[in-house]
Amino acid sequence: MRELRTCPVTGRGVLLNDGWFDAPAPGPADPAPCWHCAYDGPVIARYDGVTVVPHPVPALGIEGDPRPTVVSGGVRRQAIGAHELVFLDGARGHAGEGEGALLAAVAARIADLRKDTRLRGFGAVRRYTPGGHAVWQVFAVPVELPTTAPGGWRDAERAHGERILEDAGATALLAWAPRVPFEAWVLPTLGIAPLARTGPELIAAVAGAVDRAVARIRVALRDAPLDLVLVDGEPWRVEILPRLAGASPVEAATGMPIHGVFPEAAAEFLRDRRA
Ligand SMILES: [Zn+2]
Repeated sequence: MRELRTCPVTGRGVLLNDGWFDAPAPGPADPAPCWHCAYDGPVIARYDGVTVVPHPVPALGIEGDPRPTVVSGGVRRQAIGAHELVFLDGARGHAGEGEGALLAAVAARIADLRKDTRLRGFGAVRRYTPGGHAVWQVFAVPVELPTTAPGGWRDAERAHGERILEDAGATALLAWAPRVPFEAWVLPTLGIAPLARTGPELIAAVAGAVDRAVARIRVALRDAPLDLVLVDGEPWRVEILPRLAGASPVEAATGMPIHGVFPEAAAEFLRDRRA
C-alpha cells in the first residue's frame, strides 16, 4: 500500500510504502551482475542511449483515487504519481560519461509527466556512487513542491565571486547555507527559466558543470558518495550533496543541520585542487 500523508502539525509530507526497503535505500543494488545492465523488464521510454523504466518498488503509482481524506486533522491520500529510473544503456552507464544525455532524458521525462494534470510536483535524484551505474530516479507527486527563485542570489554571488567554482554557460557555486559540507549548486548562468523552458544546449552545459564540480568534490572527499538533486525553480538547479553523516541531535531539536565547513573555505579548497 502506498500513501502520501501530510502532517497537520509541521506541514511536511511523507510517503508511506509497505513494500519499501527496511532501511532507506536508493534502489536496486549495483554489484555484479548490475541490475541496470541486465535489465530486460518493461520500458516506459527510450531516449538517446538512455532507458526509462518503472522503479521496482515505486514510492508512487499512477493508478488510484487522488481525493484526500482527513483523519484527526491530518491529510492522507493514495500516493498517486510516478517513480521511474532513468539510466544510460549498458556498460556506458559505468563509464562516467553521458551525463548530458542523461539529464536531458530526465528533463524530457518530466515534461511528459507534466501532461498528467493530477501531477503537480516534480523532482529527480541521483545517488552518485563510485563505479556505480549512472541512474536518476524521477518523482512526480500530486502536491505542489515548494518553489524557489535563486536567480537574484546567483547574480549577487557572481558579482561577489567568493563561493564560485565555475561560471560559464552554467554557474557552479557553494551553497550559501550548506546542509552538509561541500554542498554545491549548479544553475544556468543567465535567466530564470524553469526546467520546462530550458533548451538542450543549456541542459548539457549544466550537466557538464555538474560533472566537473562532482569530480573536484570527490577528490576532496576521497570518493565519498554524493547525491545529485534536480530542483525546479527560477531558474532550476542541480544540487550536489555529499552523504557524510546522519542527522545530529541538534538537527532533531532545531530542524537545522550542523557541521563545521564554511562554504567560503570549501570554495577555496576546491579551487586549489583544480587540475
Ligand atoms: Zn550497470
